Amino acid sequence: MSTDGHTRAWVEIRANGVRRNLERIRESVGPDVAVIPMVKADAYGTGMARCVGALEPLEPWGFGVATVEEGTALRDLGVERPILVVTPLPPGAYRRAVEAALTVSISDLAGLQRLSEAAHRLDRATDFHLEVDTGMGRAGFDWRQAGDWGKAVLALAGGPLRWKGCFTHFHSADADDPSATDTQWSRFNDALGSLDLPKDDFLVHLCNSAGALRHPMYGRGGVRPGIFLYGAVAGEGLPDPEPVVTLRARVTFIRNTTPGSTVGYGATYTAKKWERWASIGIGYGDGLPRALGNKGYGIIKGRRVPIIGRISMDLTVLNITEVDEVELGDVVTLVGRDGGESITLEEVASHAGTINYEILTGLSQRLPRIWLEEGG
Ligand SMILES: *Cc1c(COP(=O)(O)O)cnc(C)c1O
Repeated sequence: MSTDGHTRAWVEIRANGVRRNLERIRESVGPDVAVIPMVKADAYGTGMARCVGALEPLEPWGFGVATVEEGTALRDLGVERPILVVTPLPPGAYRRAVEAALTVSISDLAGLQRLSEAAHRLDRATDFHLEVDTGMGRAGFDWRQAGDWGKAVLALAGGPLRWKGCFTHFHSADADDPSATDTQWSRFNDALGSLDLPKDDFLVHLCNSAGALRHPMYGRGGVRPGIFLYGAVAGEGLPDPEPVVTLRARVTFIRNTTPGSTVGYGATYTAKKWERWASIGIGYGDGLPRALGNKGYGIIKGRRVPIIGRISMDLTVLNITEVDEVELGDVVTLVGRDGGESITLEEVASHAGTINYEILTGLSQRLPRIWLEEGG
C-alpha cells in the first residue's frame, strides 16, 4: 500500500499476478499452444507499456491490440514480436498498419484489397490473419461462404502480402453451457475444411480467456487471453485468477454529523443518528462507477464500510461510524484486499450492473498506475 502521501487515489498492479495468470493459461492449454496476450485498451486499464514489459520474459508469441494506434505505440516501445490487430480497420488506416509491420485481421475482401495495395505500394512484407464469423456477427468472413471467399483470398495473397493465420471469436465461452461454443467450433472447422490453407508457419486461434480455461481442447495453435491476465474472473464457475488490480483512495475530509444531516447530490442519504463520515478523493471522474452510490463499499483498516449518498465526480463519502481512529490520509480500498476483507472486481461490477471488463477499462487516466514488481 505504498504511494507518497500526496496521491489522492491510485491503481496498484501486481506484475507477478499478471505473469502467474498467463502461466495458468499455459497450464490449461499446454506448452505447444501460442499465447497472444491481449493488451488492448491500455492493457485493460493497467498500462500497456508496463504490462508488455512484465510479460516479455515469458516469451509470448506476440501481443494483441484492437487499434492501429495501439499497435504503433507497441512498436514505439521497441516490441519486435508480432502484433495482431483484432478489429477491422477504418479504410484509411491500412497504410499505417503496414508501416508499423502490424499483423492485420481481415474480415472482407475489400479490407484485403486495401491491405494488398498498401503492402505493394510500400513494398513491405505484411502479414494478415483472416477472421471467420461463426456467430459473433461483428467482424469476419461468413463461415457458410468459405468456398467462395477462400479462393479470392488466395488470389490476393502473395508477394509482400502473407496469409499467416485464421481465427474466430466465441460469443459465449464465459457461460456454463458449452453448446454455443461447440457449435461455433464446428462451424469454424467446416470453414477451414473448405479452405486451401498455407501449410507452414500458419496460426489458428479461437479462445479468449474463458475459452482457454473452459475449452482447452479448442486451443488449436494459439489462444488470445485478456481479462484473466488482469485478475478478473473469466466466466461462470471458472477458476479465480491471481489478484492483480487494487484500487485505493485516501481520506481527505472527516466530519461528525448530527441526525438529519444529508450527503451528496440529491441528498439521497440522511444520517439516522450521530454518525461519522469520511470523504475520499475518488469519484466517477476516476472511473469509480456512480452506480455504487448507496450500494457499494470501501475497506478501511480492514473493515468494510458502506458508500453513502451519490458518488460525485471527484469525491465519495463513506460511513465510518463503526470504525475507530480513522485519520486524514488513511487509505481506503475500493477494489482489492485490506486485512481480512476484500472487494472483487466482480462485486463492484455486480453493484454497478455491469461486467468486470468495464470496471477495469473505465478506470480513468487521472489515476496513477503503480506497478508493484515484488509481492504487493
Ligand atoms: C478482447 C478480445 C480477446 C480477449 O478476451 P478476454 O475475454 O478478455 O479474454 C480475445 N479475442 C478478441 C478478438 C478480442 O477482441
